[in-house]
Amino acid sequence: MDKDKASTHVSNSVLVPTFAARGMTREIPKNRMMEEGMLPDVAYQVIHDELMLDGYSMLNLATFVTTWMDDQAGKLMSETLDKNMVDKDEYPQTAEIEQRCIKMIAELWNAPDHETAIGTSTIGSSEACMLGGMAMKWRWRARQEAAGKPTGKPNLVMGSNVQVCWHKFCRYWDIEPREVTSEGDRFTLNAEEAMKLVDENTIGVVVIMGSTFDGRYEPVEEVSKALDDYENKTGLDVPIHVDGASGGFVAPFLQPEIVWDFRLPRVKSINASGHKYGLVYPGVGWVVFRDKDSLPEDLVFHVSYLGGDMIDLSINFSRPGNRVLGQYYNFLRLGREGYRRIHQTSQDVAKQLSSSIGELPPFDLITDGSDIPVFCWTMNAEYAKTAKFSLYDIAAKLRERGWLVPAYPMPANRSDLVVQRVVVKEDLSMDTANMLLEDIKRAIEFFESKPENTPSTDDGGFHH
Ligand SMILES: *Cc1c(COP(=O)(O)O)cnc(C)c1O
Repeated sequence: MDKDKASTHVSNSVLVPTFAARGMTREIPKNRMMEEGMLPDVAYQVIHDELMLDGYSMLNLATFVTTWMDDQAGKLMSETLDKNMVDKDEYPQTAEIEQRCIKMIAELWNAPDHETAIGTSTIGSSEACMLGGMAMKWRWRARQEAAGKPTGKPNLVMGSNVQVCWHKFCRYWDIEPREVTSEGDRFTLNAEEAMKLVDENTIGVVVIMGSTFDGRYEPVEEVSKALDDYENKTGLDVPIHVDGASGGFVAPFLQPEIVWDFRLPRVKSINASGHKYGLVYPGVGWVVFRDKDSLPEDLVFHVSYLGGDMIDLSINFSRPGNRVLGQYYNFLRLGREGYRRIHQTSQDVAKQLSSSIGELPPFDLITDGSDIPVFCWTMNAEYAKTAKFSLYDIAAKLRERGWLVPAYPMPANRSDLVVQRVVVKEDLSMDTANMLLEDIKRAIEFFESKPENTPSTDDGGFHH
């Protein structure tokens, strides 16, 4: 039987698009390539229609990733879809623009000399973190070898609130993860706890500017000072990598007084996601090293560039160049003032919305959005004793209206505590935030008005 032919029986392995074309009656197999293709308009419509089932990204308050760019950015990025970032010789101007972005970011992060700063764009912070982590491992190994010491047992010190990319880094590169767990109402690492885990096999300490769990900044300067004392006592120089996935593009604009970046000599590398508060669509991250000495030469490959030489530092090979161009567009279009204004507005929305949510009797705020514009809350302990709902129920109820506002447990040692989080981005206006607040109130009323209800414990599978 010809499996492509229409039949009255519709199985789960075919698509029968209604809108693609009125006359279209043919089934399209989902998991098997058809022998013959179809007209471009039809293929476009089939996929376009199916994607309507994806959530509406403006209501996705779970993601940190950019869901809106202006039309000119969209136009520029569509025109440059064909550019491959790795072909520095074929697309020398794109390569040149990447270098300008690295220097601008290095200056934003107060590198000692941003003109000679060294770094790369990546596919996202995960790749950038791998590169920063590898540099730490390589430098530690060289130090140990030079001292005639063993190199078999490297460890990395970080909070248990790290993003999953650091667990991957440790597993892929055979490094023992040493985690500062949460305690009471501390959900990040601090210097005192971190120092209990540091020893001569520590390749470095990861400090996060903008924890994904609650949006808090970790105390980079405090950790740096503690490591200075440690070096004075032991002679061991333990570097810091700052994971600024979100905060790397927030702190320079909203909290310039916080000393977290290359102003601290111990900070050897910093990553950030261009596609988070760098305001570019998904597919770009950055890692910048303090200076040439912070990046071991063995990790660097060289590619030809207009007959010259350019460094290639990456795990991926081919990747889109248009994301880097989108980043440069934002830098030119917005300037420092534009970034400051946009993020300040997001922070104003975050603070107002968080304070309104904090005033609702069932909830207690954990953070209010005053670091990065991200905040979370938990159930009030008294209220929870007789509550007919959990935060998971609120998340599910909000989803009926299209809002994605995830609930999840806090990290190791405090995973008994379930929180609910909102990530405020440029496209969440005060008006839209008020609509969310009304929907949260309606959800509470809905559950409270039920004669009885057992609070759900199902987290719906959210992961960071
Ligand atoms: C999002 C995030 C990452 C991973 O970033 P991607 O750009 O999604 O790869 C790493 N660390 C932190 C703190 C994050 O928030």
